[in-house]
Amino acid sequence: MFDNVILIRYGEVYLKGKNFSYFENILKDNIREKLNGIGCKLYFGRGRYVVKEYGESDELEIIRRLKQVFGLHSVSVARRCGYDLEEIVALAVEMTPDIGSFRVTAHRSYKKYPLDSLQINMKIGERILAAKPNLSVDLHSPQTTINIDIREGGDVYVYTDALTCAGGMPSGTAGKGLLLLSGGIDSPVAGYMMAKRGMELTALHFHSYPYTSQAAKEKACDLARILSDYCPSLKMHCVSLTKIQEAIHKYCKPNYMITLVRRAMMRIAQAVSKEHGCGCIINGESLGQVASQTLESITVTNAVVDMPVFRPLIGMDKDEIIAISEKIGTFKKSIEPYDDCCTVFLPEFPLIKPTMEKVEEQEHFIRDYDELIATAISEAEPIEL
Ligand code: ATP
Ligand code: MG
Repeated sequence: MFDNVILIRYGEVYLKGKNFSYFENILKDNIREKLNGIGCKLYFGRGRYVVKEYGESDELEIIRRLKQVFGLHSVSVARRCGYDLEEIVALAVEMTPDIGSFRVTAHRSYKKYPLDSLQINMKIGERILAAKPNLSVDLHSPQTTINIDIREGGDVYVYTDALTCAGGMPSGTAGKGLLLLSGGIDSPVAGYMMAKRGMELTALHFHSYPYTSQAAKEKACDLARILSDYCPSLKMHCVSLTKIQEAIHKYCKPNYMITLVRRAMMRIAQAVSKEHGCGCIINGESLGQVASQTLESITVTNAVVDMPVFRPLIGMDKDEIIAISEKIGTFKKSIEPYDDCCTVFLPEFPLIKPTMEKVEEQEHFIRDYDELIATAISEAEPIEL
């Protein structure tokens, strides 16, 4: 009989004191939703959750999905048996390799079990050694730890490894943010980092069709689809910057292009945020990475909005960002060749240290600027993910 279970441990949520049940209820809902469609039973106990009664062929898929639920610390595949010591010994012996070092670590949440944890450790350790004489005991850094969980209600779980999950806080416990999602490496990682802290996301992608291709837009949508594995409620909208870029190109000095485009993006982002109940804007800027990400550039682009702008990558190096992007599965998609709207009418020498005064002066030259922004906002296109 297939008697495996998956033990789930939650992470930082346990620090929540009086608000614990609010966070825990959302976490439970997120787990239920994630495992939707897979035949299994979920048991939510104090401090630990268990997935039971699933098919053998679903085990890897359940683990894969649980690893994408923010708020979980780790999972272990365990074998289940009853309180009978001989049954526990049989499982423990079966799960210990024939050579190397080991230790037994018992936990009793059922305090009336006739043996205490130390006695269980010793008794089972002796029996394992008797069955597998090439093993040695190492209490400090064993190659294998046989964990034995004695639960209330007659269940005992035996397991060796814990697989690390995504950590963070449950999705939906930290408000909603508008993620500026390009087709690049950085912005999906920025979204992941905020989602990890429990924030729900709405993604906003700017394109400059027909200067940028339909494929470039599709690529951003594909990145959003990958992100939605971690952010179950992710929504997406696309906005065309074409008319605004053409106007900037026509009326302003070429080297102000990027700065002015980014100010337009931020104005549109603020309006879209307010329309969709987002309390902040999130982008993938990293200090000094490109001309538009110097302190001076960030100052003049940030100045057009009056809501928080979160830049979770601001202090990270590119290789650190890439490592996360590989881990979350967006990297391969991000490096597909694409044309971003920021590369349309790209000046040879973009401003590295723009000043507010000169930027505002250039912006004033753009005819019908407010109408252009308002039209772009009103034509925002919702995307089916
Ligand atoms: P990325 O790798 O995320 O594209 P980047 O290094 O290319 O970032 P920029 O092009 O200066 O940097 O963009 C900085 C941030 O502005 C991006 O991380 C993203 O949040 C936002 N952004 C840039 N282009 C777009 C776009 N086409 N649509 C939405 N947001 C964008
Ligand atoms: Mg980019």
